[in-house]
Amino acid sequence: MKILLLNVSYAPLELISLEEAICKVYSGEVFLEGDSKFCVAGGTNVHGERSHVVLSPVVRNKTYDKRPAYNIPFSRRILFMRDKNTCVYCGRTIPKGLTRDHVIPKAALYHPDVRNRVPQSKRHLVNPSYIHGWGNSVTSCKRCNREKGHSIPDIKHIKERKTPCLADMIYLGLNREQKKIFTNFITPFLKVMKEKEIQNEFIGEH
Ligand SMILES: [Zn+2]
Repeated sequence: MKILLLNVSYAPLELISLEEAICKVYSGEVFLEGDSKFCVAGGTNVHGERSHVVLSPVVRNKTYDKRPAYNIPFSRRILFMRDKNTCVYCGRTIPKGLTRDHVIPKAALYHPDVRNRVPQSKRHLVNPSYIHGWGNSVTSCKRCNREKGHSIPDIKHIKERKTPCLADMIYLGLNREQKKIFTNFITPFLKVMKEKEIQNEFIGEH
């Protein structure tokens, strides 16, 4: 079982092991969050008494943890989740047969013809780390991906896609009980984050 560790601000930090969580509770570093507390039996002391630690599926730091932002490695599973299994070109939502599409095609990296078709204002983005990154990757159905080929969509109007946040990653690893608690506690936090991100989603002139 994994325990969800939140920062003091309710921002999700990571999933930690039961043992780590027990240590944190024992040393008074965290608050227990949610109503579904449970008891974990610890070791036996010199008097033969068994210790018990009360835990909760979600714990929250008492002090602010200033850890650096975590870079989410690229994954198709998370890409499809981010785009809600919906093809960005035709708008169909399909559970299977989705592909990853590079908005500015990979060919722009090595074909001068393709590169020259990228609008001048976006040409500085033609580098491997941008092209292969989250910002240039979208979910597409097979048909739209095939039809698009090496062509460049009207990217002036295509938003730069969001890099999934740590919360998205953690959410994938939560059990049902944690998802419930996580949603209750973190929804207000995520709303604020979303509003901020929406403003950063646009690239170029917008
Ligand atoms: Zn499509």
